[in-house]
Amino acid sequence: DADLLPDALAALHATFGFSAFRGVQEQVVTRVLEGRSTLAVMPTGAGKSLTYQLPAVMREGTCVVVSPLIALMHDQLRSATANGIRAATLTSADADRGQTMDRFRAGELDLLYIAPERASQPYFRELLEQSRVALFAIDEAHCVSEWGHDFRPDYRLLKPLLDAFPTVPRLALTATADHHTRSDILAQLGIPDEGLIVAGFDRPNIRYAIRPRENAMRQLKAVMDENPGPGIVYAPTRARVEQLAETLASATGRRVLPYHAGLDPDVRARNQAAFVASEDMVMVATVAFGMGIDKPDVRFVAHAGIPKSIEAYYQETGRAGRDGDPSVAVMFWGADDFARARQRLSEVDPSRQQSERQRLDSLAALVETAECRRAVLLRHFGETPAQTCGNCDNCLEPAGVVDVTELARKLLSA
Ligand code: ADP
Ligand code: MG
Repeated sequence: DADLLPDALAALHATFGFSAFRGVQEQVVTRVLEGRSTLAVMPTGAGKSLTYQLPAVMREGTCVVVSPLIALMHDQLRSATANGIRAATLTSADADRGQTMDRFRAGELDLLYIAPERASQPYFRELLEQSRVALFAIDEAHCVSEWGHDFRPDYRLLKPLLDAFPTVPRLALTATADHHTRSDILAQLGIPDEGLIVAGFDRPNIRYAIRPRENAMRQLKAVMDENPGPGIVYAPTRARVEQLAETLASATGRRVLPYHAGLDPDVRARNQAAFVASEDMVMVATVAFGMGIDKPDVRFVAHAGIPKSIEAYYQETGRAGRDGDPSVAVMFWGADDFARARQRLSEVDPSRQQSERQRLDSLAALVETAECRRAVLLRHFGETPAQTCGNCDNCLEPAGVVDVTELARKLLSA
């Protein structure tokens, strides 16, 4: 519909103060405004929230947003409210649930955030029947797939609910979906294949490097010395986070703080706020850190050990350079990382072993490749990139990877 776009641009400016859509946002928003169900696969930072928030403001009725984490919902609630959007969350942490339900029924909400386990309860379906629903947005939609890296059984209960409201369009959103996971999301949420929209995954301003770990401390110090801007160092355990934060602070003289789920919530919040405000601080963190954090000028992301999967690698490194300025992603891996990961594989549920193994294999392939890292990464996400990018270690220094490749092959072929 040709008339939708001017309206959408006007609302974009009025609500968010932005003058243009970014990338596939326009395509996604247009489809949603036409009432067609859609799966949008967009990298972290690409602006997924806006693709449901804008239709929520423009369409009559409420956009019901399914989101997996209360913390994420509250972040979203804060930023939506700051933009003058009438939004609420319906979670166990909200004392005003009765009031929120009244507002929903009265049509006084643009956005209602809810967790999947609550969405699938009978009382919520009744509530939907008493209200006017403009759109179902399913955030972090890879959670619906056993192929996804973060399967949540509660997401499986959504389809019957969605099917009870056949005229309401669905918008599923995810940053991380390989081919398998994508088809699965479409099937599990009842979205037609033609509803798939995939944004480009390339982050050309990020320079990738993946190196064997020799002396993590010295290697991380070198990264910090070369990159004076804000950075994140991911470490595998809480103990390692504490230890690295302390030693890196004294070795570099820079401000370095720890972040992990075992810290007091106040300390965690304080460290996060300090990081977001800082122009030179380094956060040493477990993967608990990063989701929902909006800091565009992170100049480097370093991994002191391997991430959980190639998807996790992409997502975690993707926190660097959201402002488009040159940034660095360095991973230091050890054979023991892969050995431990393989060990963990044998402990996971048999139904998930095959997909988990593939995920680990894909990461191993990225680590051991002598090819362009970016090419391997982007091919994993279904793109057909150029053979060389000129901005990764393998393109910039093609020697020196041979022995690593051989070593890795021996270690990984178990
Ligand atoms: P995602 O969920 O895809 O990781 P977000 O929805 O959190 O991304 O958006 C990331 C950032 O991009 C936010 O700060 C948001 O305000 C900003 N943003 C989104 N769309 C636009 C746009 N069209 N123009 C400028 N900034 C935008
Ligand atoms: Mg998001």
